Amino acid sequence: MLQFNNGTYHIGGVSVKDLCDKYDSPLYVYDTDTMEAQYNKLKNAFGDNTKIKFACKALNNINVLKFFKNIGSGLDTVSIQEVWTGIKAGFNPKDIIYTPNCVSMEEIDLAVKEGVQINIDNLSILEQFGHKYGSSVPVCIRINPHVMAGGNINISVGHIDSKFGISIYQMRHLERVIKSEKIRVNGLHMHTGSDILDVDVFLRAADILFEVTEHFPDLEFIDFGSGFKVPYKPDDYSTDIQELGTKLSAKFAEFCKSYGRELELWFEPGKFLVSQGGTFLAKVNVIKQTTATVFVGLDSGMNHLMRPMLYNAYHHLTNVSNPNGTQRIYTVVGYICETDTFGWDRKLAEVREGDIIAFQNAGAYGFTMASNYNSRFRPAEVMIYKGKDYLIRKRENLEDLLRNQVEIAELA
Ligand SMILES: *Cc1c(COP(=O)(O)O)cnc(C)c1O
Repeated sequence: MLQFNNGTYHIGGVSVKDLCDKYDSPLYVYDTDTMEAQYNKLKNAFGDNTKIKFACKALNNINVLKFFKNIGSGLDTVSIQEVWTGIKAGFNPKDIIYTPNCVSMEEIDLAVKEGVQINIDNLSILEQFGHKYGSSVPVCIRINPHVMAGGNINISVGHIDSKFGISIYQMRHLERVIKSEKIRVNGLHMHTGSDILDVDVFLRAADILFEVTEHFPDLEFIDFGSGFKVPYKPDDYSTDIQELGTKLSAKFAEFCKSYGRELELWFEPGKFLVSQGGTFLAKVNVIKQTTATVFVGLDSGMNHLMRPMLYNAYHHLTNVSNPNGTQRIYTVVGYICETDTFGWDRKLAEVREGDIIAFQNAGAYGFTMASNYNSRFRPAEVMIYKGKDYLIRKRENLEDLLRNQVEIAELA
């Protein structure tokens, strides 16, 4: 997390200026102390029967995966490639849940071979799965409770038009498939969206899930997915994890009693665990005054941090190079040849060419969504672990860009 002390900015205790001098810019910096604090906050808000599976699509560097494994987390994966990376990072396959959407049966076979917990979200694949594996491989079912939730339509996945999950209105069909193929359902899952502020949304969805458990006698866990909102602005609201912990734990305990067995309570947060722990640093290439605005042009663009252009996401910006500068209004943009604005009308300490701008909340869906658009190299990544900085991904070079291109000899 970006912190200001003794007149300068730091991340995880290391000076931002030193980081930029050492690793250059643009740069992703991850502070593992902040990530661990978030993990503990969630873990401590719930009972001992709670398991947390880090959703690695948010941030997939293998060192981050190893870090979460070491503090006791499991892994939530959405592709076979994430499964393989998780196993490479040392996770026990039993601690990995695989929750794909619209993948082929062939890919699910590969995940079965790895021994991870399979989570299926459509009837067609479930039927094929049952036909092939019967009761020999347990499966979790992703239910769509149709609770409208989440920050906007792109990240809300529980609504009626959503492609995710098996609708609660298809319970009868689902039951028929399970019975006829003798499928052993060991878990129920839901994930209704991202940036859900309201604790009641989780509680309402939980009630719906509890209600359908009577159809599933072999349950071992219920996975409530994720979608916790984190603060993006100073004084921003976030999901009240304490309140959710108290209320959902009570509800869950009551449910387990009526179900007749202690089940495990699972969560699979991405953003909640890593958003605030990540900071993105970019350098000011140019200040451009137009008739209407003062633009700050950075040595980066939407290819490195897509969220503002993709979701209209807010990242708090700070000029870390001029802490005592007069506050002025700027529009901060990237260098991509297409409109790529990081922030409109932002108040920043007077910006000069060469200054470093820090983006907060850059740990989740930052690097993992980065691309080489405009033939730009993807940034380096640095992890701060126990107060020390480590390079965990090299900045790319021209060789990386051309690596898989095959030149036709005749074009020589
Ligand atoms: C993306 C995703 C998550 C993580 O969502 P966050 O909003 O980052 O917490 C969890 N589970 C599934 C199935 C997902 O697709």
